[in-house]
Amino acid sequence: MPHMAELNAIEIRSVSKVFGFGEFAFSAVDNASVSIRQNEFFTLLGPSGCGKTTLLRLIAGFEFPTSGEIMLNGEDIAAMPPFKRPINTVFQSYALFPHMTVAENIGFGLTMLGRPKQEIKDRVSTMLKLVRMEALAGRRTSQISGGQQQRVALARALAPQPKVLLLDEPLSALDYKLRKDMQIELKRLQSETGITFIFVTHDQEEALTMSDRIAVMSAGKILQVGGPREIYDAPADRFVADFIGETNFLKGRIRSVTAGIAEVETPTAGRISATIPKDFNADGDVTLVLRPEHAVLCAPAERPDCQMTGTLENVVYFGTDTHYHVRLSDHETVFTLREQNKPLQSARFAEGDRVGIAIEPNAARILRN
Ligand code: ADP
Ligand code: MG
Repeated sequence: MPHMAELNAIEIRSVSKVFGFGEFAFSAVDNASVSIRQNEFFTLLGPSGCGKTTLLRLIAGFEFPTSGEIMLNGEDIAAMPPFKRPINTVFQSYALFPHMTVAENIGFGLTMLGRPKQEIKDRVSTMLKLVRMEALAGRRTSQISGGQQQRVALARALAPQPKVLLLDEPLSALDYKLRKDMQIELKRLQSETGITFIFVTHDQEEALTMSDRIAVMSAGKILQVGGPREIYDAPADRFVADFIGETNFLKGRIRSVTAGIAEVETPTAGRISATIPKDFNADGDVTLVLRPEHAVLCAPAERPDCQMTGTLENVVYFGTDTHYHVRLSDHETVFTLREQNKPLQSARFAEGDRVGIAIEPNAARILRN
């Protein structure tokens, strides 16, 4: 048996979950495989209905896989009932007991486990400190704010010291400011406790800012697993490229290949150098991916590297930056650019202007499919 430190916290091996029978059979999780490391902040990211909650419920033991195995520290946990698993869940709805105080809620799991009174008291007080709720220990949870309820739900789930904490869209009910604060708070809790977190969200920004690694899901399948940068910079396919941030897709044909870089002829932008994904046999017609912040809007004559021209259709001011939508010369493709706003800068271009687009070096990448 390998050393403990080398074992993955959770291993999902070819797991499927089918609901319904016959013609109504439906795979909520479809042959998913992924290993989650010890002490990792791991995120399942995907649109509503892609199977994130089902996968969490399988790990927690509330559902049983139709096929495949789930390993915890290298051991199959199929036969282990949910309450025996060293795994706890923070539900989207918090599911607190409104008639109990904050402290009673946090101690509930330990009380159910029949732990000694003093141990529960000590543990609750540690948890109250951890989530900074000491002052409200005696309040009923029906009398505290949404953000405070979120903290209590976290403390309650952490109190029995699980090895793995599952968090199902725990921040989705909070308003923007509070959500940002709680994101930092969750990161702190994870690194202070050393517990493996499996976090679920449909929010790509949340996934990118919080995670050590991310699994992108669609229609029950895991499409890509990687660090935030890897997922953003080298999306495995069109779905991932489109779901993680905004993306431009340009069609083209490969003319030559040198050392991992292809020269691609495009109908809208002339020749563009594009990175070829690893182990990809680039040949013939391809699609290029370009992020909106990796291109610059210019007056067509202003820059010699101004590769594309088009008509500015739309200018959207976002405070931090401005988004420009340019209809390219083929009259079909709309290219999106994003520029950071500078102090006292007024809009450089107006809707209806003829504009150019310069693509930054190393910005384009060939899509696998
Ligand atoms: P997500 O959490 O990503 O929004 P879910 O895991 O909740 O997605 O659901 C994935 C799919 O499985 C959805 O289409 C959902 O309707 C379906 N589903 C979930 N649970 C059940 C169930 N108990 N019976 C039948 N279908 C279900
Ligand atoms: Mg869900």
